[in-house]
Amino acid sequence: MPALRALAPGADPAPPLSILMVASEAVPYAKTGGLADVVGALPGALARLGHHVTLVMPRYREVGTVGTARHHLELGLDGRRLEVGLVEVEVADRYQVVFLDCDALYDREGLYGHAGIEHSDNAVRYGALCHAACEYGQQLEVPPSVVHAHDWQAALVPVLLRTRYAADPAWRRVPVVLTIHNLAYQGLFPPDTMRVLDLPASLFSLEGLEYWNQVSFLKGGINFADAITTVSPTYAREILTPERGEGFDGILTQRRDRLRGIVNGIDGAVWDPCSDPLLPASYSAADVGPKREVKRAVLDRFGLPSDDLSLTRPLVAMVSRMIDQKGLDLICEARVELMALPVSWVILGTGEPRHEAMWRALAVAHPERVGARIGFDEPLAHLIEGGADLFLMPSRFEPCGLNQMYSMRYGTVPVVRATGGLADTVRDVESTTGPGTGFVFDDYTASAMLAALHEALATFGDRPRWAAIQHAGMTQDFSWTASAAAYVHEYRNAIERRQRAGAGRGE
Ligand code: ADP
Repeated sequence: MPALRALAPGADPAPPLSILMVASEAVPYAKTGGLADVVGALPGALARLGHHVTLVMPRYREVGTVGTARHHLELGLDGRRLEVGLVEVEVADRYQVVFLDCDALYDREGLYGHAGIEHSDNAVRYGALCHAACEYGQQLEVPPSVVHAHDWQAALVPVLLRTRYAADPAWRRVPVVLTIHNLAYQGLFPPDTMRVLDLPASLFSLEGLEYWNQVSFLKGGINFADAITTVSPTYAREILTPERGEGFDGILTQRRDRLRGIVNGIDGAVWDPCSDPLLPASYSAADVGPKREVKRAVLDRFGLPSDDLSLTRPLVAMVSRMIDQKGLDLICEARVELMALPVSWVILGTGEPRHEAMWRALAVAHPERVGARIGFDEPLAHLIEGGADLFLMPSRFEPCGLNQMYSMRYGTVPVVRATGGLADTVRDVESTTGPGTGFVFDDYTASAMLAALHEALATFGDRPRWAAIQHAGMTQDFSWTASAAAYVHEYRNAIERRQRAGAGRGE
């Protein structure tokens, strides 16, 4: 009998894959939202399963100095020659990042825009990302097993591989998996973008990139990807409907055989109340006592009273982009009733000026009970997750959502609307399928949200019951291991599908 080689728990016994990932942001280098958390954590989880990952992303100004470029590419875009340096950085065993160094495109304030205005050349900036990733992959001695492109910014990769590089025998066998983190962002640009990005005019069609006489990067990606994933099973179903399909429900329904929802994990090395260096006290499911110290620190940071009475009052938090998708319009509608609740509030976020102004005004009107910080502040987000009692996410839609999982991990009970990943990750206290981890409401109405909050506050007074809900949330397994294994499954399916397509053509 041959000797059995020991495998790490969860490791994949099949031969390891080499995965070329393409994305516009990743923790710890550059972040505007959940995409960065996912792209920051998934490669490490795949590497721990034994696979090799190379992530290609821009070197934005905020990435800082990461090394020197030892290889260069020349891209012909927008009627000019752009020189792009490739800076390779070993991040961990089997995981490296290749930064695209091109100051003309990426050395500026803001990833996608600044002061509320999108950068006017985003088509070129992300067109260059896709072109460069394909060129880089093609120049590798051994082509990757699979390419994984994230969101509209990387969605031209499948288009380019299946058109411009279609004649390359090595590339032809490599499948592309496209992950949609939020269908509402479609990479829409004027028709002239076809010429600017040196794309054949024939692709400006229904089966290509054309969408209501505009160029959509995401539509191109959906049409050309071998497999499409999105970030929760519920969202994968929702985007097939006209209500949530953002105009793409038709093409997604046509391709539903290759669409799958894989819920995001959370990075346990970064988000863990036992070891989080951003908290003034550490605690665990076995002993949540020190959480009170964190609550005091949050109240102090926001300049709210932190005496014993204030510490007893429930603290409700939000850390969110301040846009309607996240339920900010519902909050605006219900603000009088919300302010009448016997709670304190801490809010961190940026977004639409009218929502920012609303929270600023509420903080001025209720200085003892409302703290609002307008801005992006990662350390403060950790402190809030640690110190709050309840976390509110009344989203209109939510592809996956991460904050509800961070909240549960930190013993901060989420109050969420049953949509997308919120429905898949938070179990309502009334559920019969297992111990409740939060309060879930269905209708996107102010009254449904208020009813859920009232129920949560009534339960808060029942300490043993509250402790049981906290404990159930804190002990859920939200690790990346299972999600990374699900991606590997998708990669292997896509490889097989591509091989079958090749066999069909007699290759
Ligand atoms: P989305 O990607 O739609 O914004 P997610 O819940 O998937 O929503 O992820 C949001 C991520 O961004 C979380 O890690 C959250 O903590 C973080 N975040 C959002 N707004 C802020 C902010 N103002 N400051 C710090 N972190 C923020």
